[in-house]
Amino acid sequence: GGITRFAFPFLAGYRAMTQDTTAPDMPPLPMLDKARANLRAACDRLNIHPDVFEELKWPRETLSASLLIRMDDGSRRAFKAWRCRYNDRRGPTKGGVRFHPNVSLDEVETLAFWMTFKCAVANLPFGGGKGGVCVDTKALSASELERLSRAYIEAFAPFVGPDRDILAPDMYTNGIVIAWMADEYSAITGAPLPNAITGKPLAFGGTVGRTDATARGGFFALRYLQGSLGLDPNKATVAIQGFGNVGYHCAKLLHADGYRIVALSDSRGAIHDPDGFDPLAVMEHKHKTGTLLGAPGHGQTREIGNDELLELECDVLVPAALERQITPENQARIKARVILEMANGPVSPAADVWLAEQGTVIIPDILANSGGVTVSHLEWVQNRSGFYWDASRVRDHLRNVMETETQAVWTLHNEMGLSMREAAYVHGLRRIAEAVEARGTQA
Ligand code: GLU
Repeated sequence: GGITRFAFPFLAGYRAMTQDTTAPDMPPLPMLDKARANLRAACDRLNIHPDVFEELKWPRETLSASLLIRMDDGSRRAFKAWRCRYNDRRGPTKGGVRFHPNVSLDEVETLAFWMTFKCAVANLPFGGGKGGVCVDTKALSASELERLSRAYIEAFAPFVGPDRDILAPDMYTNGIVIAWMADEYSAITGAPLPNAITGKPLAFGGTVGRTDATARGGFFALRYLQGSLGLDPNKATVAIQGFGNVGYHCAKLLHADGYRIVALSDSRGAIHDPDGFDPLAVMEHKHKTGTLLGAPGHGQTREIGNDELLELECDVLVPAALERQITPENQARIKARVILEMANGPVSPAADVWLAEQGTVIIPDILANSGGVTVSHLEWVQNRSGFYWDASRVRDHLRNVMETETQAVWTLHNEMGLSMREAAYVHGLRRIAEAVEARGTQA
């Protein structure tokens, strides 16, 4: 029981960048402007109807709210919160809610933009959405966190719904936070089983296999490509940044498959052992001490800096924490041949182009971490039908989706000479464009 708090390294924000000059009257959205470059490039590649670019240029709607809650000491505090529905041509908007001190409007809208493409890449009948609250959850008591989670739902309930906008976990909103949110939505709507929120606990209408779904999806994608990438699981080494839900389960799955996990990190620091770690033993240590520092490895274990982890000699680097960890500042020191993007946006756009030119294969976020939302879709399906699947059926479906879409992206990458990211955007954009054009465009 209790609250599971997941730790992520680096609270570093992104740097200020120049604003999109096509919209001088807009508030600065440097991150979204950068993300949109991938859309522009994909539109140009496919010679897509200009209406499509125009439609995807800005989020369809974003609500902002101030969540005013009573603190344990009797005082009131306001927390800034957002929910964005970026685009819903392929279905109701879908995406998590992030609790983090650096959450901003720009970040929420960018994450919602990425969700739009992620859902299209995974071929889900969903558009993209995202929410966030600017809060340091570690500074709140459990009851304050509960009031904040419920206040979020109260503020955005009219925006939400199983056919409109469907929420899910994201950073620091795992487990109990989702249960409070689902319970609040239930109270507001009178529906005992709130299908407007996925990632719910099993006993509250959740699905088996959602907890490790994001990690497992990335694992299936990597395993599907490992032959083409010349990776031998029994020899390959892996460094993982972030030991939250995604990082931990990734480590576990890769370790069980034979990969050597040579480095791990959380918000307090990183550990390195050339002979590898057993992620279960590291988690046990973390449970006992609150940190993975000092966890046992198989050989000479040492503490390293978070920056050093990214720059280690290894075959596969798995960023599973925040955005913008690999930038032009450290790109030249990245030695991994393969980067599996389990976080959203961990490689900056400039570093992405530079690394692809150097021959680094980056399995992009909108493909690599789409397993989470893919199993969220299954939860939504099961809630609608009232028939619950077993673990093997969920896994088989997830494997099937990941392999089908990874193959499609890999083929585009090879046939069109695109980076994996460009290929994933082209793949997703085709589907989004079809949905836009199905409503009618002028020739
Ligand atoms: N927050 C996760 C993501 O970024 C999951 C979203 C969902 O399940 O809707 O993909």
